[in-house]
Amino acid sequence: MAEVRLTNIRKSFGALEIIKGVDLHIEPGEFTVFVGPSGCGKSTLLRMIAGLEDITSGDLTIGGARMNDVDPSKRGIAMVFQSYALYPHMTVRENMGFALRFAGMAKDEIDRRVAEAARILELDPLMDRRPKALSGGQRQRVAIGRAIVRHPDVFLFDEPLSNLDAELRVHMRVEIAKLHKTLKTTIIYVTHDQVEAMTLADKIVVLRAGNIEQVGAPLDLYDDPANMFVAGFIGSPRMNFLKGQVITAEDGMVRVALANQPQVQLSLPIAAPVKSGDAVSLGVRPENFVAAGRGDADLSVEVDVAEHLGNTSYVYAHVAADERIIIEREDSRNTVSRDRLTVGLAASQIYLFDSAGQRLK
Ligand code: ADP
Ligand code: MG
Repeated sequence: MAEVRLTNIRKSFGALEIIKGVDLHIEPGEFTVFVGPSGCGKSTLLRMIAGLEDITSGDLTIGGARMNDVDPSKRGIAMVFQSYALYPHMTVRENMGFALRFAGMAKDEIDRRVAEAARILELDPLMDRRPKALSGGQRQRVAIGRAIVRHPDVFLFDEPLSNLDAELRVHMRVEIAKLHKTLKTTIIYVTHDQVEAMTLADKIVVLRAGNIEQVGAPLDLYDDPANMFVAGFIGSPRMNFLKGQVITAEDGMVRVALANQPQVQLSLPIAAPVKSGDAVSLGVRPENFVAAGRGDADLSVEVDVAEHLGNTSYVYAHVAADERIIIEREDSRNTVSRDRLTVGLAASQIYLFDSAGQRLK
């Protein structure tokens, strides 16, 4: 277990700045997930912590010691990648012990650590097999075992489940959560999958184009997003955004009208400095629409497609030609395309954003 601290970390490849000044404190034993769209710099940031990329500027400390110039093998970290690259000619046992043998560790200590990792990962029956006789999930467990035997202070995972099929991904997600409960080691885990982030993390770091957009516990980000990017990224299906305009703003209340249906108006308990005429966006999650007449205003939409999943339905609809929304409803089995549908909006379930995408509250 070790704390990890990043202070104004930057990374440039040539003239191009990829990581633009990241400040982050990861507590000892915390499970931190870096999440964000492809290309936002998650792997680059993780590789700088691992020592696989130079840090252009800023400070990295692990367990209080500055690590910028320390060799990767001396940082107390172990990394698991998406492609697990096991040695094909070695058994599971040999693969797991390889780094320790390479480091010159005594054989009985290696045997002890490999046996311990095999027990934790339930690999005992597979120890004498070679990788080609293993399933994808089993290979990934061996790759994790290879990291566990090193007794690192910090585990680094870079999209370790992305090569697995959907069912196995869910299974391994649960295994990794259990592993963290057992080992209690600090984990930094990279994924582009917000569901993985929500289910695994103590702390989520949302990255976008080399900057941190928000840091917080999963449900804090879901309940209290700082901006439209985080609001749209966390939650599935994503939050809907409706164009709106401020009618009045006074005494801690903002009255807004929808741009595409100006008769639809809501008073929101928001004290933000906006004024009449300002363009805003209203955010409403698919699961937060209420029945017509039950909210503070009714919205009329035309249905494009309805997906019936059994327990729930996703209704894809539009408010106007260029404003599409998704409505989740448990009672929509009979909804079909081209239906007109009226749904209720509850002021308490509406998020408001300014024209720059910053949350108003
Ligand atoms: P992510 O893991 O979030 O998908 P990466 O950290 O891999 O993103 O990449 C972030 C950005 O940095 C991308 O635009 C990528 O093309 C660029 N990049 C990554 N590695 C290099 C490199 N060695 N040289 C130049 N650009 C790179
Ligand atoms: Mg990556």
